[in-house]
Amino acid sequence: MDVKSPYLHPEYETLSREEINKLQTERLQETIKRCAKVPFYAQKFKEMGIKAEDIKTPEDVRKLPFTTKQDLRDTYPFGLAAVPLTDCVRLHSSSGTTGNPTVILHTKNDLDEWANQVARNLWMVGLRPDDVFQNSSGYGMFTGGLGFQYGAEKLGMLTVPAAAGNSLRQIKFIKDFGTTAIHAVPSYLTRLYEVMQEQGVDPRKDTKLKTFAIGAEPHSEEQRKRIENMFGVKAYNSFGMSEMCGPGVGFECQEQNGLHFWEDYYIVEIVDPETLEPVPDGEIGELVLTTLRREAMPLIRYRTRDLTRVLGRTCPCGRNHVRLDRMKGRSDDMMVLRGVNIFPIQIEKILMTFPELASNYLITLTTDDDNDNMTVEVELAEMFTDDYARLQSLTKNVCRALKDEILLTPIVKLVPKGSLPVSEGKAVRVVDKRKVYQ
Ligand code: ADP
Ligand code: ZN
Repeated sequence: MDVKSPYLHPEYETLSREEINKLQTERLQETIKRCAKVPFYAQKFKEMGIKAEDIKTPEDVRKLPFTTKQDLRDTYPFGLAAVPLTDCVRLHSSSGTTGNPTVILHTKNDLDEWANQVARNLWMVGLRPDDVFQNSSGYGMFTGGLGFQYGAEKLGMLTVPAAAGNSLRQIKFIKDFGTTAIHAVPSYLTRLYEVMQEQGVDPRKDTKLKTFAIGAEPHSEEQRKRIENMFGVKAYNSFGMSEMCGPGVGFECQEQNGLHFWEDYYIVEIVDPETLEPVPDGEIGELVLTTLRREAMPLIRYRTRDLTRVLGRTCPCGRNHVRLDRMKGRSDDMMVLRGVNIFPIQIEKILMTFPELASNYLITLTTDDDNDNMTVEVELAEMFTDDYARLQSLTKNVCRALKDEILLTPIVKLVPKGSLPVSEGKAVRVVDKRKVYQ
């Protein structure tokens, strides 16, 4: 480990495009061989006449079948295992709110590679073994817990498994242990800041904080800037999903110009969700990922339902791993209100531009007299609920700004700070109470 190097794995991080193509081709062939042991894939390969030798370039991945979340549910729990269960050492499972939960299996090597990915990301944003890393995300089945734990330990940092919630305890740890870096969901960090304020703790003076990894839920650039300004730290976007192992799949470098997706570990495609054909760079589509290293449960062309676009394939940081835009949301997060398509992130982006507003908000969709309506409740940054004229004019301005963005006029309600629910995990931003789901 050369602590002065900007790269933890220079042999992979600084590959040229040609080298990435070569490596991906070899690793895709290996993945196909591994998948051939899974009846689900073996059957599809047979039907489609696919052999590992047919893969000559990474683009040949397009000859392969897609895998969907439904496929994972249908084969629950172990139907997609490519190795005997005795070779697996851990599983993670998703919440399963709609139907069967999904299960992801890991071998020892899978866990080791996963830790490498996370360590690489944390190194990329300047963390080194002398940093103190506090992981304030949920542990257990949620991959943000153990995923960051093992990655941070792999890098060699003193790692504090603080887990989610209990802000007073978090603040005590930050101060007592000299925490320099935190991983958490962005919605939690804004809450943590409010508690610091209540406690008279100034993160700039009273802590050593300098770096945040924020992710696991969609958030806007405005939200990131807000978090950075609150704490006086750099906040880097971290993308992951259990199906791809967990956090570590994509991460921003210090340029903060999009998420580098690690192409030695995944083949990245952006497709039109209707036609499933690739979209040109710069156009928004569904992110589709193929694992290249995973042993226990390799997945081919997994349809993530996350919407994003390619920003570039080079970067001043020296890494040529594809850069993707921050996620716009999942296709299933999209609200259709009176025929207009709206993503929660569009609302957030506007709300964050008002310094009078705090960061917690809730969107409720209702049917009133056969009309579908959207109510946006947002907390005020400070208390001036007795100043009606000021409240009224702010409400009007927020409403107008939202209308310009979403082309519909929502009902805006400004509520006192701390009055909306805060979840310990991913924030719940939308409650749909409409009579007829669209
Ligand atoms: P679940 O599928 O139960 O939500 P995961 O933890 O696997 O569990 O969630 C992965 C999903 O979380 C991604 O598919 C994506 O929608 C979202 N996500 C993760 N990281 C980010 C991020 N940095 N920005 C936006 N969305 C993210
Ligand atoms: Zn970069």
